[in-house]
Amino acid sequence: MPEEVRPRASWDEYFMSIAQVVATRSTCPRKYVGSVIVRDRTILSTGYNGSIRGMPHCSDVGHMMEDNHCVATIHAEANAIIQAAKNGVTIDGGDCYVTASPCWNCFKQLANAGIKRICFGEFYRDNRIFEIASKIGIELVHSGLPGVSLPALAATPPT
Ligand SMILES: [Zn+2]
Ligand SMILES: [Zn+2]
Repeated sequence: MPEEVRPRASWDEYFMSIAQVVATRSTCPRKYVGSVIVRDRTILSTGYNGSIRGMPHCSDVGHMMEDNHCVATIHAEANAIIQAAKNGVTIDGGDCYVTASPCWNCFKQLANAGIKRICFGEFYRDNRIFEIASKIGIELVHSGLPGVSLPALAATPPT
């Protein structure tokens, strides 16, 4: 059989696909989100939406709702920053790949962690991030989702 030469993934497709796989570990069914922090094309840290370490998952015990949001979980981008801090990994100047655009809180955290480029898969909810990103020199890119198909990625209900 002849070899099949497949088109090579771009770096954005490569890391976003990995973020999509990371999202499959999310435990809050309101939003499956995955995040990968990268510098010089090397993965430094990953994170997904999940409960406080040692606490039960939304998927097992239900959500902790406040103002129509689930506040039980730590968001994917925050968990990626936290994982880097926990392990003593420098992320200053890095890129963040995240399957859904950062909420306002996560955006602020990424900015102060020194992230210089944020690549998101789908728009989530907060338009302020576009204005502030351009003001403070963060490149914000809507790359789309390359389409890793795993069951946990199928449902992204609006929140
Ligand atoms: Zn939840
Ligand atoms: Zn967030």
